[in-house]
Amino acid sequence: MARIDLNHIRHAYGANPKSDKDYALREVHHSFEDGGAYALLGPSGCGKTTLLNIISGLLHASHGQLLFDGKDVTRLSTQERNIAQVFQFPVIYDTMTVYDNLAFPLRNRGVPEADVDRKVRETLDMIDLASWARRKARGLTADQKQKISLGRGLVRSDVNAILFDEPLTVIDPHMKWVLRSQLKQLHRRFGYTMIYVTHDQTEALTFADKVVVMYDGEIVQIGTPAELFERPKHTFVGYFIGSPGMNVMPVAVEGKRAKLGEQVIDLPGAPKAEGNGIELGIRPEYVRLGAKGMPVTIRKVEDIGRHKVVRASLEGREIAAILGEDDHVPADPHVTFDPAGINLYDKSWRVEMGA
Ligand code: ADP
Ligand code: MG
Repeated sequence: MARIDLNHIRHAYGANPKSDKDYALREVHHSFEDGGAYALLGPSGCGKTTLLNIISGLLHASHGQLLFDGKDVTRLSTQERNIAQVFQFPVIYDTMTVYDNLAFPLRNRGVPEADVDRKVRETLDMIDLASWARRKARGLTADQKQKISLGRGLVRSDVNAILFDEPLTVIDPHMKWVLRSQLKQLHRRFGYTMIYVTHDQTEALTFADKVVVMYDGEIVQIGTPAELFERPKHTFVGYFIGSPGMNVMPVAVEGKRAKLGEQVIDLPGAPKAEGNGIELGIRPEYVRLGAKGMPVTIRKVEDIGRHKVVRASLEGREIAAILGEDDHVPADPHVTFDPAGINLYDKSWRVEMGA
């Protein structure tokens, strides 16, 4: 497997890109470490598939450079890059048996038949299709076909990386869970470099050691699931990760205080920026509901089992708070913000606080 460096990658699908908005990828500069399990997370249309295809060579970037273990592969073909890629929908040979579908990528590379047999059987067990080995792929369900596709990606261990583009979309929920934990085990066992694209935060957070969050053609943050949760560098990350996502509200900052309408919030440190145009982000988990603090109007209480989500109105804006299952909404409700959960953002993203 290999380390993958993306150096200042930009990509436009159209012929004459004029402004930033003509680029599907604007400035992607990042390294995937050898043996890392990465998730590429972001909403539909943010450029995830474009980036994967640039890594595998299905697409050549308009600008920038791609290195595998320090070697420039920018101009190499897909074959020469030696990458396994699993797509959202099955890519298999309908007229071949399940067994031959998996054997094909190995035979193609001249792997001795005894090794082919061993690898194919191992992979068939993993995708739970051993008893279907001799069946033609044509008659199988969409779910089974996608498992073959997954198997074809996993059967070769000599590749530089394995890329997955939302591979479990068509798989039923239980099997999704099983396959995802198998992918994780595979990673632990063999140390493959894996990049797993998804728009589903649960999938990303359970699969990856490092999550790469993309938004509108750019990487906005890379971190462990805990880092993304505790210290989102961009309001989008805070909003996209977590359920419900981070509350974001405009404030005016003066020294160690933030003003939200008539309310004053004490900050845990002195921010490195002052004035208007700053947004305060706080996760619902850090919003305390009680008898003191800023007055709120309760709009809705959703009981979701282990805890309740309270939707309230604070200074005319909706804010979410989380209550333990045994906690109750006070008669005259107020909120305070736990300073540990306060993040500030200016237009250049996160505003760091002082000591
Ligand atoms: P994602 O995989 O995150 O949903 P994509 O990489 O598919 O996003 O798309 C990123 C952007 O590039 C979108 O705005 C999409 O409309 C555009 N795009 C994707 N493929 C093509 C294409 N073949 N031709 C033109 N525009 C494309
Ligand atoms: Mg996509």
